[in-house]
Amino acid sequence: MTTVPHFINGQRVAAEGVSPVFNPATGEVIATVPVPTPTQVDEVVALARQTALTWSTSTLSQRTNILFSLRHLIVAHTDELAALITREHGKTLPDARGEIARGLENVEYACGLIEHLKGGFSPQVADGVDVHSFREALGVVLEITPFNFPIMVPLWMTANALATGNVVILKPSERDPSVSVRLGELLKEAGLPDGVFNVIQGNADTVNQLLTHDGIDAVSFVGSTPVARHVYETATHAGKRAQALGGAKNHMVVLPDADLDVAADAAINAGYGAAGERCMAISVVVAVGGIGDALIAKITERLDKLTVGPGNEAASDFGPVITEAHRNRVRSYVDNAASEGATVVRDGAELLNRPGFFIGPCLLDNVAPGMKAYDDEIFGPVLGVTRVETFADAVALINANPYGNGTAIFTRDGNAARLFTRQVSVGMIGVNVPIPVPVSAYSFGGWKNSLFGHAHMYGPEGIAFFSRAKVVTTRWPQPSESQIDLGFPRTR
Ligand code: NAD
Repeated sequence: MTTVPHFINGQRVAAEGVSPVFNPATGEVIATVPVPTPTQVDEVVALARQTALTWSTSTLSQRTNILFSLRHLIVAHTDELAALITREHGKTLPDARGEIARGLENVEYACGLIEHLKGGFSPQVADGVDVHSFREALGVVLEITPFNFPIMVPLWMTANALATGNVVILKPSERDPSVSVRLGELLKEAGLPDGVFNVIQGNADTVNQLLTHDGIDAVSFVGSTPVARHVYETATHAGKRAQALGGAKNHMVVLPDADLDVAADAAINAGYGAAGERCMAISVVVAVGGIGDALIAKITERLDKLTVGPGNEAASDFGPVITEAHRNRVRSYVDNAASEGATVVRDGAELLNRPGFFIGPCLLDNVAPGMKAYDDEIFGPVLGVTRVETFADAVALINANPYGNGTAIFTRDGNAARLFTRQVSVGMIGVNVPIPVPVSAYSFGGWKNSLFGHAHMYGPEGIAFFSRAKVVTTRWPQPSESQIDLGFPRTR
């Protein structure tokens, strides 16, 4: 049995394992992960603060070189990293490679840091007075990440945090912690000085100690909504800059004029990919104006052809969910759906006796607000269909939902699509695109209970989050200009 180490000051640091890491495809415990003592946490933060003194003065070209090298190393090690992810998370290898590719976009964006950190200059704002601005690092930033994207989400944060000159302490999910240690090693190989990127394993207690720690300047979090709210409130109460991205309930609206084959493909891909364990997964298909039966027939036809199996088998369309406890939770929504008034079209029960945490694709019809299967984020391979009469009903349904991460509309009507993008209170919208995760030049963020704080993740908002501005007003007075004037400085 291996124990996943911490990665501190450029080294793997072994510690006694406490919580189990499973291979979800077999159900076996394959490793354990340590929980640091409060003293160990203090020591890591002290090291990080010391390192920040020098790293914050690193040159822009040094940081750019490291990020370019990291990009090369991640590409070269993609298969190895994907295998690590699949082993602990359960997602298929192609899906793991896709996650790596989407994480890599953020490294590429950060490689342009010379442009992103460019300040402004305004000569002669008043007679003989110039103004310039620039951005500086915050210091030591804490990253807390979820199980479902064990390398992509750390890269969402880390690329910009390092580009802006911060020292990072990453607390990865205890469910699939190994790939973050490899990320640390690749960063070291890319030339990052020891101590600039540290991985501290642990659990909620570890997070809670760090959230209020005097040595932490900012907190970037991605995870479930209750924890996101807690992290945001605790960190900001302790005077820290914070962003906390939470859970989701993403609706895909299908208008009567849509190509139903295209829409059914999208519902399958975005509903069941990664066993539904994506924050941008589609969990509710909203069938507008009498197309429900035809759409469900097309979704079911595709669903029945899906292969569920270990992520490292080429035939698998999706793998197991993350733990036994999570599988039981997902099952409970399907088991209770009929008594809530929904119609169970497929119950996914055929795989329950297989070793590992498998559950087949589930499809629920006539799902409506007030049912737990509609109200809760299920985070599993369970797609619900809600039938509404009109476009306005669909928009009202989405806007009444407490989450606002992603949504999509399927239609051939450009004006309807345009109105949809204007009227929904959701942060990320797809038009005939079911998982509209923005490319890295645009920032990622939901609305309402899907994001606490104002700053979206990565892209320009990520650069802004991990840095702060200074504005310098300069004058070089000549002796002949000597004067006493107690009035407030004016520009005119
Ligand atoms: P989680 O909230 O259980 O855990 C996230 C992190 O918080 C982990 O590192 C965990 O150790 C820590 N944590 C857990 N409970 C804590 C507590 N009580 N106090 C302090 N720290 C705690 O989330 P998860 O199950 O790992 O990930 C799945 C969730 O993340 C889903 O809700 C999904 O929608 C969400 N998610 C959101 C986005 C987004 O961009 N909005 C992206 C990915 C995942």
